[in-house]
Amino acid sequence: MAELTADQEPVPPLTIAGHWDFRYQYFAGDAASRFFHELGNGRIMGTLCPQCQRVLVPARGFCDACYVSTTDWRQVGDRGRLETFTILASRFPGLPDPPVVIGYVTLAGASTALLNFVLGLDLTDVEAAATRLLAQPAVEVRFRDQREGRITDFFFQLADA
Ligand SMILES: [Zn+2]
Repeated sequence: MAELTADQEPVPPLTIAGHWDFRYQYFAGDAASRFFHELGNGRIMGTLCPQCQRVLVPARGFCDACYVSTTDWRQVGDRGRLETFTILASRFPGLPDPPVVIGYVTLAGASTALLNFVLGLDLTDVEAAATRLLAQPAVEVRFRDQREGRITDFFFQLADA
């Protein structure tokens, strides 16, 4: 085994503290504007790619695989499968107190996955919750009674919860 030279010596990983706090406005564009508007109506809508026939959710103005404009709108189902997830253990401004589950779900009739909170899961044992989520359980969309045309108008919940 070769010896390490001085410039190959392992060094401890560097951690740099930082802080971001800024206001901004985001121009959502036509497709996202309608997508969020429809959330306010209690509907999750996608756009259809005329070439590959995928239904893109959240709605997009063009297909990221074919590079063509999407044409028609499709309402997708309120049930789907959890594709992947993360369990946040740290507090983030604007998010609920940890632990928080955020997951990607492909809803019935959609070709792509949608990101949102997965609520209603017992997180007192995070390892047990993660094991349950790794099985990619069926989930349901639950719309809130008070909606604002935001992604927070709905959340995912395990279908068997
Ligand atoms: Zn396409």
